[in-house]
Amino acid sequence: MKRGPAGARRPGARGGPSSRRPRVRTVRARPAPPAGVPLLELAPGRERSVEHGHPWIFDGAVRESPRGLEPGATVAVVDAEGGFLAMAACNPASRILARVWSRKPESIDERWFERAVARALARRDPARLASPRAALRLVHAESDGLPGLVCDRYGDTLVLQFNSAGAERHRESLLSALLQATAPLGVRHAFERSDEDMRRLEGLPAAEPAPLAGQPAPQVAIDEQGLVFDVPIAAGQKTGFFLDQRDSRARVRSLAQGSRVLDVFCYTGGFSLAALAGHAARVTAIDASAAAIERLVAQAARTGVAAPRLDAQVADAFVALRELRNRGAQFDLIVLDPPKFAPTAATVPAAARAYKDVNLLALKLLAPGGRLFTFSCSGAVSADLFQKIVAGAAADAGLPVRLVARLGPAEDHPVLLSFPEGDYLKGLLCAVD
Ligand code: SAH
Repeated sequence: MKRGPAGARRPGARGGPSSRRPRVRTVRARPAPPAGVPLLELAPGRERSVEHGHPWIFDGAVRESPRGLEPGATVAVVDAEGGFLAMAACNPASRILARVWSRKPESIDERWFERAVARALARRDPARLASPRAALRLVHAESDGLPGLVCDRYGDTLVLQFNSAGAERHRESLLSALLQATAPLGVRHAFERSDEDMRRLEGLPAAEPAPLAGQPAPQVAIDEQGLVFDVPIAAGQKTGFFLDQRDSRARVRSLAQGSRVLDVFCYTGGFSLAALAGHAARVTAIDASAAAIERLVAQAARTGVAAPRLDAQVADAFVALRELRNRGAQFDLIVLDPPKFAPTAATVPAAARAYKDVNLLALKLLAPGGRLFTFSCSGAVSADLFQKIVAGAAADAGLPVRLVARLGPAEDHPVLLSFPEGDYLKGLLCAVD
């Protein structure tokens, strides 16, 4: 909100005479940066976002681009007067010029990474951590204070992504800190599944999937709500499994009884198997990836799910949904969990159209009394915008659609409040009469 001239107040605004005093901005004295570390000097007035805890510094915020620094090198970020703001990893090859490690003038060394990993583990549910077939995210990048690093644990195996120049530069320290901290939990192996697209934006070469420690098996059995999934850590998408949807899968399971379920963008069938375990009458599962559908079918066979209850199709979702509509198919419960349609802010308008399309198609397939679980995992699409898109689809479908619950990632995917970009996964559970 823009403030009016000094003294002007909205009628009824709170505050007595004291609110007419001029506003004074407190200027805290900043410490000097640590000696011997290259400085990254911000342009005047550009320190606010770092001060507010945002971990990214864009190339436009600095007085001068640093020269001669290796990608990922540690710098001390200072304001235009030389006051210390943060320790960060600098990457001259990226639009995100620096990512903050720490807001204290401290050394970013092996000990520091050990402490950062310990802090991340302390944020996890101890009961979940202790289970031998545990499947949970141990480090959620920026939101866990370790920009660019993702670490998922599947039983005795860690799957890691080094997606920023800083994480890449310190990969050995990070790996050894993680292995050391998780050895008491029974972790023995580690495997790399860095994200090629994110690395490209960082100017880093692609890192092939490869073992990092021990002898990781290509797939690892995990337990989610008593369901055993074989996670394809070497050949699957991302780190092998979409751990972030754990709570929503549980919700689908609890609502599936007797339902005709449609699981669109099903991958290896996390939602489908949850629905079958919840006694769905029938599940139709659709994904463009033949490998994912193959796994779903194999998994269903292993889980002892009666084949007639599962119809798994390799298809483009947009085409398959139109075909279902043309056939007059109806479903009581639909899950829409598409890939990231908006990888960057520039692609939001096109993504909004795709989200609207797919939601409109799905709403038209809902039987009376039906429920739609609809998700967006695009960080660039805000929760507010996503809700507007779904509301637009509902209006076009001519249906009164009610929002029953907002859905989000499981608790091992925390969101740092000063980093809204980390709030990527939003879901709406909608109902029609
Ligand atoms: N719901 C899944 C995760 C979905 S990830 C779970 O809980 O495990 C998104 C999936 O969409 C991927 O499996 C990808 O193969 C699939 N996909 C991407 N584009 C698609 C398209 N046009 N049609 C169908 N599936 C698509």
